[in-house]
Amino acid sequence: MLRSALLAASRSSQVRTVVEKFPPTHAIVERFVAGEALDDAVTACDDLVATGRKVTLDHLGEDTQDAAQAAGTAEAYEYLLKALKETGLAAGAEVSVKLSAVGQFLPVDGEKIALENARRICAAAADAGTTVTLDMEDHTTTDSTLAIARELREDFPWLGVVLQAYLRRTEADCREFSGAGSRVRLCKGAYKEPESVAFQGKHEVDLAYVRALKVLMAGEGYPMIASHDPNMIKIAGQLAQWNNRDRDSFEYQMLYGIRPEEQLRLAGEGNTMRVYLPYGQEWYGYFMRRLAERPANLTFFLRAMATRG
Ligand SMILES: Cc1cc2nc3c(=O)[nH]c(=O)nc-3n(C[C@H](O)[C@H](O)[C@H](O)COP(=O)(O)OP(=O)(O)OC[C@H]3O[C@@H](n4cnc5c(N)ncnc54)[C@H](O)[C@@H]3O)c2cc1C
Repeated sequence: MLRSALLAASRSSQVRTVVEKFPPTHAIVERFVAGEALDDAVTACDDLVATGRKVTLDHLGEDTQDAAQAAGTAEAYEYLLKALKETGLAAGAEVSVKLSAVGQFLPVDGEKIALENARRICAAAADAGTTVTLDMEDHTTTDSTLAIARELREDFPWLGVVLQAYLRRTEADCREFSGAGSRVRLCKGAYKEPESVAFQGKHEVDLAYVRALKVLMAGEGYPMIASHDPNMIKIAGQLAQWNNRDRDSFEYQMLYGIRPEEQLRLAGEGNTMRVYLPYGQEWYGYFMRRLAERPANLTFFLRAMATRG
């Protein structure tokens, strides 16, 4: 129930105004977000790369209702990719993009605009010598996001997609996207979804994650295991062994600020460990989804509210 309330709040403009104006929020947000400016992102990225981790950067934003803002987000990614190239960080850092931030929900020609903006970002990534992964949002966007991914892959075959284990359709999607050269990030899924399309309980979602992971690990693509769950990480290691996968044929991914010691342990063992690093002013939706995922994150937030002063 708490999770549902927080996920509903993540889409409420009234709650957003209150949370954004609450002074200690910013200090707490820093735990999950690199900062608001491009320089903050580059500095945090540099620090992570220096510890042997790789990075995927997310210029925060979602649900854009304005074409100029969508184009502005694409431009922000171009600046980011240029900065990664110039600082020599592109070898260790790629970018993650939400199609709703680059126009997918615009009332007129939304998909077309999102495709063109995503194409600009992919071209900038190719120029920098790195890659792009398309984040996955709620289930109403899955078909559209995968259709755009298929189209972009004709020119940028390295484009990564995210599949969410909680969706009932995902095992089948994994089969489609487990071919040679295919990069798939498998996560559990962070949105509130109806039972008709998604498994609801943790145990059911975990089982679905393992089924999907089995397909990806047995396939010819490059699985990206995006989870903080010790069980999923252990099973991924076992599946890699059973499928005779080299350490460079898959990678682990975790969110910035979550289980950093485990991130370092996995990287220290010679695995590719990539950290999802968000930055920018539009942190509200991302931050609320992190609170919804874990009561301990919420306790941390409420304690700060109670002791402000
Ligand atoms: C790199 C990356 C990219 C993502 N991209 C997307 C996306 O595009 N679309 C989308 O819907 N979702 C995305 N997610 C979010 C994802 O779907 C989950 O909501 C989120 O990762 C939580 O699921 P979990 O697998 O970590 O397991 P959970 O079931 O949340 O947690 C399982 C266990 O992991 C450990 N754990 C989890 N969190 C913590 C913590 N804060 N501190 C300590 N231990 C912890 C605990 O042992 C916990 O019991 C992404 C996640 C990652 C890591």
